Amino acid sequence: MKQSDLPKCPECGNMPEYSLKPNHLGWVWGGIRCPYEHYSVKLNGPASSRAKAEETLAPQWIELVEKVSRGKTA
Ligand SMILES: [Zn+2]
Repeated sequence: MKQSDLPKCPECGNMPEYSLKPNHLGWVWGGIRCPYEHYSVKLNGPASSRAKAEETLAPQWIELVEKVSRGKTA
């Protein structure tokens, strides 16, 4: 999922960013985070590619944002 398609941070409304780094073996580590670090999700383990990492992280971020938004309105 493209960074611009991700739901915005429920705290500040800013677009979250992928923060991914490949290591020397080409495995990708990292997560998605709000630029102001209100919320973040991280990979449990390295992904085999950047695309794979984004595929794993996007639903986690979406779930987190939904959970937080629900908590606020409840
Ligand atoms: Zn934020």
